[in-house]
Amino acid sequence: MDEQQLNTEEEQKMIDAAYQELLNDYLSSNHRRKVEIIEKAFKFASMAHQGVRRRSGEPYIMHPIAVARIVSHEIGLGSTSICSSLLHDVVEDTEYSVEDIENLFGKKVAQIVDGLTKISGGVFGEKASAQAENFRKLLLTMSEDIRVVLIKMADRLHNMRTLGSMPPAKQYKIAGETQYIYAPLANRLGLYAIKTELEDLSFKYEHPDKYAELYALLESTREERDNLFSVFSDPIKKKLENLGYKFEILARVKSVYSIWRKMQNKNIPFEEVYDILALRIIFDVNEGEDEKSACWAIYSAITDIYKPHPDRIRDWVSTPKSNGYEALHVTVMGPNGQWIEVQIRSRRMDDIAEKGFAAHWKYKTGEKDDSELEKWLQTIKELLENPEPNAIDFLDTFKLNLFASEIFVFTPAGDIRTLPQGATALDFAFSLHTDVGMQCIGAKVNHKLVPLSYVLNSGDQVEILTSKKQVPVPEWINYVVTARAKSKIRSIFKKEYKSFINKGEHDLETYLKENNQKMTPDNLSKIMEYFKETKKEELLYKVGKSIYNLNDLTNSVFKSQSKWMKYWNLTFRKDGKSTSLPFFGNKNSDPKKTLTLAEDNSGVTYRIADCCSPIPGDDILGFMEEDGMLVVHKRQCPVAMKLKSNYGERIISAVWETHKMLSFPATIEVKGVDRLGALCDVIRTITEEHAMNISKLSVDTKDGIFEGYITLYVHDVEDVNNLCVSLMKIQSVKSVNRVETNS
Ligand code: MN
Repeated sequence: MDEQQLNTEEEQKMIDAAYQELLNDYLSSNHRRKVEIIEKAFKFASMAHQGVRRRSGEPYIMHPIAVARIVSHEIGLGSTSICSSLLHDVVEDTEYSVEDIENLFGKKVAQIVDGLTKISGGVFGEKASAQAENFRKLLLTMSEDIRVVLIKMADRLHNMRTLGSMPPAKQYKIAGETQYIYAPLANRLGLYAIKTELEDLSFKYEHPDKYAELYALLESTREERDNLFSVFSDPIKKKLENLGYKFEILARVKSVYSIWRKMQNKNIPFEEVYDILALRIIFDVNEGEDEKSACWAIYSAITDIYKPHPDRIRDWVSTPKSNGYEALHVTVMGPNGQWIEVQIRSRRMDDIAEKGFAAHWKYKTGEKDDSELEKWLQTIKELLENPEPNAIDFLDTFKLNLFASEIFVFTPAGDIRTLPQGATALDFAFSLHTDVGMQCIGAKVNHKLVPLSYVLNSGDQVEILTSKKQVPVPEWINYVVTARAKSKIRSIFKKEYKSFINKGEHDLETYLKENNQKMTPDNLSKIMEYFKETKKEELLYKVGKSIYNLNDLTNSVFKSQSKWMKYWNLTFRKDGKSTSLPFFGNKNSDPKKTLTLAEDNSGVTYRIADCCSPIPGDDILGFMEEDGMLVVHKRQCPVAMKLKSNYGERIISAVWETHKMLSFPATIEVKGVDRLGALCDVIRTITEEHAMNISKLSVDTKDGIFEGYITLYVHDVEDVNNLCVSLMKIQSVKSVNRVETNS
């Protein structure tokens, strides 16, 4: 690639056009017209990046322009953020310094660019801790100026939109990281549209075939949905017009990714995802009318026409979500008997839902802002003041807080507090004040006395009881779930905690050695899964304190593994020949190379991960263990997802070659009506019709229904699908599904 190649005339036209679009977006927004400084930033960035190209071949400046457009048009930020976006890669990639930026554009822009530069290097770094450390930096800069993280989001979104020009292994890594941390963070910041697009793009790169398939299905059913939409919405439209509302009704179609999630979670085909279409009503508040009353008036008008589902009313108007989301959701029965969700929002609520923080500022009134978003940001600040010693643990703790669903509890004075699901009285105490937490001896929940480990429910009224004589004990760490309480308690017992962690690490290493195992990420994740721990530190602590008995592993985790290992060794490993692998990250290897797992197993030794048990035909990826063994996971395997984010550089893209000789274990779940001979039919179909070997079979019958798990040896996904079709033909069989684990 010739880096000094200057832009052609045609490219210059493209750049100018893109910049003009950015200006148009900006000028049609409500921000003050500060075109001059934007023009200056554009010229400076163009000059600084002159001659450099992106991987796609485009002039580099197209990227900052695109990021600035997202920041302006999709997030709704003003000139300072637009300038910072245009300049976001200048310090990182050119010889200009933060001081240069400050001299030319002032302190604020320089600070934001500095923040973005700090978190740019090593996001895809070589070491897991570097990546997590980077994320901590991201949060630190975020708590200083939220615009840094909003621009980072825009940067990530544009990189995801243009991910196609990256090699596959890099695509998985970036897509994995996006799904692991950026999409939840976008959600937490109230950037719904961006969150949805990030998830969809990650999914598209991780499962290209599935994505294409679902996309085509969505397209082919579009007309049907359009018809349903007009039949369903017409009566609502008329009624609301008669009532004098100014409003628009939009059809909301579920994203490809969320359709897929639903199909996975509920184990249902596309046709059975009933809520693909939803309706959104956005209304302008009439003069003198109360916004909240208007929501309920519209609700009432709709439910006069269609029957509401009694369990599906979501009132986020009275109590907004903690990411700031406000709306009234109701699910009603449509004309053909199908359930349809209707989302009712005012124009202001819609703006907040689409643009998150930025819109929130626009509507900010008065001095003190104690909105849910501000409160959340405050907890992040506190978390950072008392950081966990280990960056990866910090990332995990933070992530738990990103994902947790929420409960609302009340103080005796009637104030509402938001806590993650599973929070205890002690969490609540710490959320009020550190001192209240430290001196907490118990609580009164709905006027009844409860211990401090009591798990709170939404709607509880909680009064904390304290005593000056109270002294915290280390066990408290097990009574809390919030990051804030955990880090406060931990900081008191840091020393003691640390020594147990060291002991635990030593114990675990000794144990593994005795069992001819090593402390590999794969082994570690198996052990964590066994003890249901999500954090390494917590696991080691409990091992060190002898809360967990490592000998429990001998008859479960490592026993079953050695059994499988034997099987795989027999089938796949070429004896005595250790081959060097095309390890991505190795200088001599070709990072574009996708590993093919061939039938004759030429040159590659690999093992099937037993967390997800992939078989030929599944979308897979490889993970390089420290000892050089390649472990094959399904791409959507949660264990693989975590490995992808934390040890991205060890991910290797892999595909199966058709396998018709080797056999792999796969487990199917069969459910049906327990009729005489039903099971016999099932087994006959498997062994005679399909000539497959069953390795394990377990059946439960209850109240005339049977549920069976059958592990059998197959060649590939096609085998399983064909078998499922045959089994479904048996009259008493009602459902057949492939399940994840072969246990
Ligand atoms: Mn960038």
